[in-house]
Amino acid sequence: MKKEFKLYNGVTIPSIGFGTWQIENGESAYNSTLIALKAGYRHIDTAFAYGNEESIGKAIKDSGIDRKEIFITSKVPAEIKTYQGTLDHFYESLRRLDVKYLDLYLIHAPWPWSEVGKDCKKENIEVWKALIYLYENKLVRSIGVSNFSVEDLKNLIEATLVKPMVNQIRYFIGNRQDAITNYCQENDILVEAYSPLATGSLIDNEMLTNMANKYNTTVAKLCIAYCLANNTLPLPKSKTKERIIANLDVNIDIEKEDLDYLNSLGHIGPTRPYRS
Ligand code: NAP
Repeated sequence: MKKEFKLYNGVTIPSIGFGTWQIENGESAYNSTLIALKAGYRHIDTAFAYGNEESIGKAIKDSGIDRKEIFITSKVPAEIKTYQGTLDHFYESLRRLDVKYLDLYLIHAPWPWSEVGKDCKKENIEVWKALIYLYENKLVRSIGVSNFSVEDLKNLIEATLVKPMVNQIRYFIGNRQDAITNYCQENDILVEAYSPLATGSLIDNEMLTNMANKYNTTVAKLCIAYCLANNTLPLPKSKTKERIIANLDVNIDIEKEDLDYLNSLGHIGPTRPYRS
């Protein structure tokens, strides 16, 4: 299995990240993160909006693992669209996580979640300039975006000449967002695949179960391997010890014919609106 990806600025990033959306702050986020770190994850994906940075930070500390060995991502809330607001939220994330720097900081979405699709191009440039400031001052090792369209990406690049290193998008079997993915991969912007299991809704899919049986594996592992086979970085989330451990142990070479078939599929899970 691919162990890491390299961003265009040379920073390496472990090839499977531990997703933490909908893991409540407190015992749940603390235990899940500690289990993940003990299982071997060295990449944790959180966000200010998940409200769990404090427990994740405590688990990182208590794991005894050197901070430098763990790749930590957080995100400026989608609702924050000012330069100063971005810096304020960044410092608050550092405080909650109890770390001195982040490995990756993302703009959570191009629009507030309550106004999906709103044109915030001007405001996103301000937020992006704040991220560039943090990057230049070595408070983050890499910067990027999430849920950005090609147009949203070009807007930032044209205004600042600084290309995001990552675009984290909703990506799973049947939902590949080809236009964005192709643009990112042609421009050396790493695509991170969020909701690689379609927030759990692919797990009972009959066709995927049959294919997983062929590889003597599970649907979850097949979904994670699928992202990797398409050069995207999966961020599976689980609160369940056995699943957390299993999701990191993915060693499946999907045959070209099967990969082509999976890539040819349209939606096979329920359609959902954007989720944070
Ligand atoms: P996901 O990883 O696609 O799926 C998680 C669901 O699948 C949970 O219900 C989990 O159940 C279940 N599951 C996990 N492993 C399993 C296994 N081996 N077998 C059976 N079921 C399994 O969900 P997601 O949380 O939507 O996405 C993952 C991460 O992407 C998030 O946590 C977050 O870090 C990131 N994300 C980012 C954005 C964004 O806007 N940037 C949006 C959504 C997600 P249990 O937890 O009960 O085990």
